Amino acid sequence: MDAETYPANDVVERVLSGDVRTVARLIRDIDDGIPGVRDVLKAVYPYTGRAYVIGITGAPGVGKSTLADQVINHLRKRGRTVGVLAVDPTSPFSGGAILGDRIRMQRHCTDAGVFIRSLATRGQFGGLTQSTRSAIDVLDAMGKDFILVETVGVGQDEVDVVKSAHTTVIVVMPGMGDDIQAIKAGILEVGDIFVINKADHEGVDRTENHLRLMIEMADKKYEEGGWKPSIVRTQALFNKGVDTLLDEIERHGRHLKQSEGGLNTRKRESRVREELSEMVKNRLIEKVGQRLIQTGDFDRLVTEIVNGKTDPYSACDDLVFPIVKKL
Ligand code: GDP
Repeated sequence: MDAETYPANDVVERVLSGDVRTVARLIRDIDDGIPGVRDVLKAVYPYTGRAYVIGITGAPGVGKSTLADQVINHLRKRGRTVGVLAVDPTSPFSGGAILGDRIRMQRHCTDAGVFIRSLATRGQFGGLTQSTRSAIDVLDAMGKDFILVETVGVGQDEVDVVKSAHTTVIVVMPGMGDDIQAIKAGILEVGDIFVINKADHEGVDRTENHLRLMIEMADKKYEEGGWKPSIVRTQALFNKGVDTLLDEIERHGRHLKQSEGGLNTRKRESRVREELSEMVKNRLIEKVGQRLIQTGDFDRLVTEIVNGKTDPYSACDDLVFPIVKKL
């Protein structure tokens, strides 16, 4: 389906009225990179900015989906509606992990206040971060109060995905000391709240001390007025500590609003800046990429480099300059 045939007008109205089937299809089309979706996203954007976005990330098996399921439950008890995006960059075909997540959260599927979808993103140019942001916009416009973005791992993709959340929750479990060290460079920067789940396991104190030390060592970043990441213990399986986590998320939300610039300016501005620059980059790659494939120049130059007729630097100039001059 292309841009001309995508039924934009109607789709926007139905998204705004919270129509579940339309939103489900739109998110699938975002995931599949259907070009006509851009027009819908343009029309939907003015209705975004109301939802509070919570990112949940951590290594596989720490209990993210169990925790997400409890968070949904508690938010519903507080009378809030929830959208959930389960993001799996490792599985090109919405494989096992996502299926598992959705089965676990299935008890919410008859609740109209909860909408759960997974995203895998099958290799179009915009990338996973972009499609997650677009899907967040759709759930936001649909009227969900909270949007949970849950990832399956802690790779760079996942870190990028959860970075755009208002509050980013990093889940670990006892006995992960060395692993935390290994991934700290990426996660310490993005974590607003660290959850030690499976607090019924041995070694909780050790893990907490470890985390605290890492947070203290990075203390310079949390200068005056900055948010110092907090640590919450939970037992998601036994529904313990989840209210404390939600209170902490709320406290972080208040901090964002009150801190200089607040939710609506500074953090938002840096998010928009990053989002726009990524979009421009993706759009250029998409357009230039299409042209290179169509003209066959790319393949021709690959062969020439392999045959020693030219070098990659000159080939790159040959490919880019004619296009850039036209801009
Ligand atoms: P994910 O891969 O991070 O999403 O982890 P899951 O939510 O699938 O949980 C992995 C396993 O840990 C499951 O068997 C859960 O039942 C179990 N689990 C989750 N939370 C807890 C907890 O607080 N305590 C204990 N003992 N097990 C838990």
